[in-house]
Amino acid sequence: GNCIVFSGDEPIPGRLGITLAREEISIESMLHDALETGGLCLHYQPIILANGKIEAVEALMRCTVNGINLPPGKFIPVAEKTGLIVRLGEWSLLQGALQARQLQDAGYHTKVAINVSRAQLVSSKFTQALHAALICSNVKPELIELELTESLFMDISDTVQNNLKNAIAAGVSLSIDDFGTGYSCLANLKDIPAKKLKLDRAFVTVLPEDRRALAVVRAMTQLGHELGMTVVAEGCEHQKEIDALFDAGVDAIQGFFYAKPMPEEALLHWLQNRNTQ
Ligand code: C2E
Ligand code: MG
Ligand code: MG
Ligand code: MG
Repeated sequence: GNCIVFSGDEPIPGRLGITLAREEISIESMLHDALETGGLCLHYQPIILANGKIEAVEALMRCTVNGINLPPGKFIPVAEKTGLIVRLGEWSLLQGALQARQLQDAGYHTKVAINVSRAQLVSSKFTQALHAALICSNVKPELIELELTESLFMDISDTVQNNLKNAIAAGVSLSIDDFGTGYSCLANLKDIPAKKLKLDRAFVTVLPEDRRALAVVRAMTQLGHELGMTVVAEGCEHQKEIDALFDAGVDAIQGFFYAKPMPEEALLHWLQNRNTQ
C-alpha cells in the first residue's frame, strides 16, 4: 500500500502541553479517525522454534486512513506522546485476545504476543483492560503474552509492579522486547518475572560475519537461559543468520525469512499450509 512520508517539522503546542510537530498533529488526527472508522487492524508474525514448530505469533498494529498506511514507526511514537496509546493499546489487547481465541477454536495452541507500552502500564486501568480482554474473548490466559520493552524496568513504580503482578496472576506471561538496545541495567533483569527474552534485530543483521556480535548473542542467550527464559531473535531475513542464531543457542526466530506480518486470514492459511506439509 501507500506509505506516507512527512517532512518539515515545525513545532506547535499540543493538547497535553507538549510540543508537537506539524506532522505529529496530522498523525494524531489520523489516529483518532482510525479509531472511529475501523482503520486499525492487527497483523500477525509467526515465531518459529528450531524444530519448525510455531512458538507464538506477534500481533503488530496497522493503521490505514483514507487509503494511506501509516507505518508503526511513525504512529506508535505519536500515540505514546499524546496518550492515545492507552486507547490503541486497549484495542490491541482485545483484538489480540479475540484472535488467540479464534486460533484456540481452530485447534492451534498458538500464543499471541501483544505489545504493551509503558504509558499503558503506568495507569492502574491496565489491569481492568487486560481482564476485560480475557473475559470478552474467553481465551485461555496462557495463550496471551505481553511484550514489554526493557526501558520499562529502568524505574518501576508500584502501579507498574501491581499491573505486572496482576497479569501474571491472571495467567498471562511476560516477554522482554528489543532486549540489548535499551537502557536497562542488567542488575534489574533478575527481578523481572518474564518468561521470554527477545533479542533486538540490531544483533541479528550483522551475523554471522561479526564474531563479536555473535559472542554477545551467545552470552545474552546463556544469560536468558540461566534465568529460565526462552530466547527469541527478531528480524531474521537470511538463512545464514538463522543458522548462526540456532547455533548460538537461540530457541526461536522471528523474521521475514519465515514470514512477514500477515492479516488474520493470511495467517490462518499460512498455519494450514504448514500443517499439511
Ligand atoms: P517490535 O515489537 O519490536 O516488533 C517487531 C518489528 O520488527 C515489527 O515492525 C516487524 O514487522 C519487524 N520485523 C520482523 N521481522 C523483520 C525482518 O526480518 N526484517 C525487518 N526489517 N523487520 C522485521 P512493525 O510492525 O513496523 O512495528 C514496529 C514497532 O511498533 C514494534 O516493534 C512495536 O514496538 C510497535 N508496535 C506495533 N504494534 C504495536 C501495538 O499494538 N502496541 C504497541 N504498544 N506497540 C506496537
Ligand atoms: Mg514486539
Ligand atoms: Mg521487538
Ligand atoms: Mg523492535
